[in-house]
Amino acid sequence: MLKVKPLENKDYELIKEAEKVIEKNYRYGRHHIGSAIRTTSGNIFSAVHVEANVGRITVCGEAMAIGKSISEGDHEFETIVAVAHPHPHEDIEKCWVVAPCGMCRELISDYGKDINVIISYKGELVKCNVMELLPEKYTSDI
Ligand SMILES: [Zn+2]
Repeated sequence: MLKVKPLENKDYELIKEAEKVIEKNYRYGRHHIGSAIRTTSGNIFSAVHVEANVGRITVCGEAMAIGKSISEGDHEFETIVAVAHPHPHEDIEKCWVVAPCGMCRELISDYGKDINVIISYKGELVKCNVMELLPEKYTSDI
């Protein structure tokens, strides 16, 4: 059973920022995921994912948002979210929250074991600690 917390207003703002960045930069086959991360200092950095023809070299939105934040000098993270933008051929009007992929769960937890992740859980938007999503995380420690 996942330990989840209800969203606060600032979490809805974070989702809005993820939606804004992908609504502005959506390109079919190139960018359809937006991500936003809030740092412990309260700053928000948002970025789109970068799709590649060879699928496995695609860079996720969460990695881009983390990289953007760090590049701007903000290294401590509080909460992250990613949203998907519908494609023109889909009969969907607005973005929806997507859970981080397995690689992103590893990446996010590498940059902070206390980072919250906003996900849709049992039909509701909630947040949980990234470690909840990654039991027995990979480690090279003994
Ligand atoms: Zn990912």
